[in-house]
Amino acid sequence: MDYPGNLFVVSAPSGAGKSSLVKALLELDSQVYRSISHTTRAPRGQEKHGREYYFASREDFEKMIAGNAFVEWANVHGNMYGTSKKAIEERLAKGADIVLEIDYQGALQIKESFPHAVLIFILPPSWDELRSRLENRGEDTSDVIAVRLKNAHQEMSQVDKFDFVIINELFERALFDLKAVVHSQRLRFLCQRRTRAEIFSSLDISDSLENS
Ligand code: GDP
Ligand code: ADP
Ligand code: 5GP
Repeated sequence: MDYPGNLFVVSAPSGAGKSSLVKALLELDSQVYRSISHTTRAPRGQEKHGREYYFASREDFEKMIAGNAFVEWANVHGNMYGTSKKAIEERLAKGADIVLEIDYQGALQIKESFPHAVLIFILPPSWDELRSRLENRGEDTSDVIAVRLKNAHQEMSQVDKFDFVIINELFERALFDLKAVVHSQRLRFLCQRRTRAEIFSSLDISDSLENS
C-alpha cells in the first residue's frame, strides 16, 4: 500500500499552548491540515462552527457514535469530543499531512488505528505558568479553570506514552521543536519514496523497492 500522509497528534493539558502552537505551524506550513473535531462543548467567544470545531448537541454526537462516524472520541472535562472519519481519512489517503489537536485518550485510540501516527505531548514549564495562561486567556470561568487544572495532573501522567515531548516555555523555541518533528517525519524513507518518487526513479532504485 502507498504510505499515507503523516498523521501528527498533539495533546496537552488545557492552557499549555497546544492550539497556539498548531495555529502558528499552520501559518508557516501550507502542507499540513488541521482536523476539525466535533464537540458538545459550547462555543467560546470568537469560535465559529466549522472553523475551530463542529459544535454538536449531545444527541447528534451520540448518533454519530452509533453510526460509527468517529475514528476516536472521548469525554474530556465533561464534554464529548471526537474526530470524524470524514475529517481525516480522505485527505490522509491522498498523502496530505494532518494534525489532530486531541486529548490523550483520543491520541492513544489513534495510535491503535493508525500505527504510523506521531504522538506529540506539549507540557507547560510549571504549574504557576499553566494556571496563569488559563487565567490570562480569559475564555473560561474560574470553575472551568479549576476542573482543567485538576485534570491536568492525570493528563500529564500520560506523557510517557507519547513519541515526542515539547516544553512550551519560550513560544518560538517550542514552535521550532514542533517544526523539527514535522520535518523529521517528512525525511522518512517511505514518505520520501512517495513525495520524491521521480528522484528514486531517476536513480533506478524504485524497481528494487517494489516488494519493500
Ligand atoms: P483547550 O484545552 O483549551 O484546547 O480547550 P478545548 O475545550 O478546545 O479542548 C478540551 C480538550 O479536548 C483538549 O484536551 C483537547 O485536546 C480535547 N479535544 C479536542 N478535540 C478533540 C477530539 O476530537 N477528540 C478528543 N479525544 N479530544 C479532543
Ligand atoms: P491550549 O490549546 O493548550 O489550551 P492555548 O494555545 O489556548 O492552549 O494557550 C493558552 C494561553 O497561553 C493563550 O492565551 C496563549 O496565548 C498563551 N501561551 C501559549 N504559549 C505561550 C508561551 N510559550 N508563553 C506565554 N504564553 C503562551
Ligand atoms: P454528514 O455525514 O451528515 O454529511 O456529516 C456529518 C458531520 O461531518 C457534519 O457535522 C459535517 O459538517 C461534517 N463534515 C462533513 N464534511 C466534513 C469534512 O470534510 N471534514 C470534517 N471535519 N467534517 C466534515
